[in-house]
Amino acid sequence: MFDLIIQQAFLIDGTGKPGWTGDLAITNGKIAGLEPSINAEAARYINGKGLTLCPGFLDPHSHWDATHLHGKHGEIKLRQGVCLDVVGNCGESLTPCTIDNCGDIEQFFPGPDNRIIPRSFSQYCTELDAAQPGLRVMSHIGHGTLRLLAMGYSAEPPDHKQLTRMKEELRLALDQGAAGLSTGLYYTPSGFADSNELQALMEVVVLKEGFHASHIRNEASGILEALKEVITVGLKTGVATHISHLKLAGRNNWDKIDKVIETFETARNRGLDLTCDVYPYHHSCTSLLSLIPPWALEGGIDRFCERLNDIELKEQIRHQVRNGYPGWESGVQNSGFEGITISSVHSGKRQNLVGFSLAESADKAAMAPEDYVIDLIEKESGAVSIICASMDEEVVAEFIRLPFAVIGSDGALSQGKPHPRAFGAFPRVIRRFVRELKVLRLEEAIAKMTGKTAQRLGLDDCGRLSMGLRADLVLFNPETFGDTATYDTPCQPPVGIHHLFVEGKQAWPPTQGSKNVQGGFCPAPHSRM
Ligand SMILES: [Zn+2]
Repeated sequence: MFDLIIQQAFLIDGTGKPGWTGDLAITNGKIAGLEPSINAEAARYINGKGLTLCPGFLDPHSHWDATHLHGKHGEIKLRQGVCLDVVGNCGESLTPCTIDNCGDIEQFFPGPDNRIIPRSFSQYCTELDAAQPGLRVMSHIGHGTLRLLAMGYSAEPPDHKQLTRMKEELRLALDQGAAGLSTGLYYTPSGFADSNELQALMEVVVLKEGFHASHIRNEASGILEALKEVITVGLKTGVATHISHLKLAGRNNWDKIDKVIETFETARNRGLDLTCDVYPYHHSCTSLLSLIPPWALEGGIDRFCERLNDIELKEQIRHQVRNGYPGWESGVQNSGFEGITISSVHSGKRQNLVGFSLAESADKAAMAPEDYVIDLIEKESGAVSIICASMDEEVVAEFIRLPFAVIGSDGALSQGKPHPRAFGAFPRVIRRFVRELKVLRLEEAIAKMTGKTAQRLGLDDCGRLSMGLRADLVLFNPETFGDTATYDTPCQPPVGIHHLFVEGKQAWPPTQGSKNVQGGFCPAPHSRM
């Protein structure tokens, strides 16, 4: 007898192949039957007529590192159909953390709930299990975190001892199940690294069969050079390389799309295992600190504030916030102060600023916008998030269509008005890019959220409808499944999801039994060998 049979649903298997109508049976958390019709006893039946059944979605790019430890927000992911979340992205992970880098890491994960304490990677995994987030969580090690541990906010290359420390910590975490190393070359301190440092670390990642996920150094006018930087490291070391949230920021750069695609294809033809993820929105979200030239952040936020006392240095920073300098581009150059909106002020103070552009807020304060940015960073220790209008939806659509692209949310929870991708990224792909824009067939879209992602993550127990795999399943109405979260009202749940099962247990809508859906740390396959 089966635990459950879902009858006569339209089955999309996660490979991209055309769907078909049939029955799917579950026993002991695994897919145990997959036929046009299953005539057998089951403890429960669900009528799937008119609904689509596919594998649970996998989010390869999220910033819920601290959020999952609270174990109470998993529902936001589950309601989108997400069964596995990958954290530790953009060079930022909660571990390895000691008393030395504790305070600095807090800048990556600002927020009243996100108390950063010293912990090792294995402690983080244990805490995740205990928190019962409701879904599985994988994690990268963040290069910025590693660097802070070994050498603080220094802009210098690491000496032998510092590099050895980074390599050892990385090796340990990979042994304990970290998925790979994420770099955040756009941010400090990860961006202080040169290619020698990256190569030395990637050699460890290759040895442990992890992969490199990179928020590249430049996603605007310098994107081709930035892609070449990580591709070269990939070709030299053989490390599997994944470009996080591929985008083209800045109207003047949108026409670089063909060159970007060509760069990917050339590297792939040369044998590099190169993929990317894309989020289905054309506004980005980042830290207000990203508008500050990197040299001014060497030594951390306190040193930055000290530099402001030097009139000449302050003048230089002001100028560069607006205009950048050769080799570094300011977000203002691509969005303008009017295109950058304050989305979260993490201290809980100044909530009246949320939802207004930097241009409007500066105007109200009777300040030049560059002065306003510097002043706000000083007052809030940099813990302010911004949403930037800088992309073109047609370019986003082209990137999503790339055969080596998968969907990632890049979502983070915060107070104020967080980017809606945290609440709606996956259903939005179906609503906007399948139904409205008809950029993808439904089967293709599903593959980019399931089977292809599992391949990138090296997971062979999920991501497809296939006998014996985990019964992580989404049952949804293909006519209505979609996001409702907007920039103005971001914390809205999606509509059109009927059921979500995590390892055969109903996780949505909640039932008595959904308390049994625990989730927790999911070690990368290379650590299970
Ligand atoms: Zn990023």
